[in-house]
Amino acid sequence: MISKELLDILVCPLGKAELRLEGDTLVCTRCGPRFRIEDDIPIMLMEEAELPEGINSIEELPCMKEGRHGDTPAT
Ligand SMILES: [Zn+2]
Repeated sequence: MISKELLDILVCPLGKAELRLEGDTLVCTRCGPRFRIEDDIPIMLMEEAELPEGINSIEELPCMKEGRHGDTPAT
């Protein structure tokens, strides 16, 4: 199990959206890919992520499109 502290700082590598812990995977709350956790280390690589249903490539993910705008919205 990964710590709450670690979970708090982890974000989607594409769009910096928050992640949600689901079983032994982390799921982006915006774009939906699943990142698996191996030996308590989340594998935060899009190449390794399991894409959500209906999405065939990372190009189609909302976070990917979000990241394209160039400037990041102030949070
Ligand atoms: Zn995302």
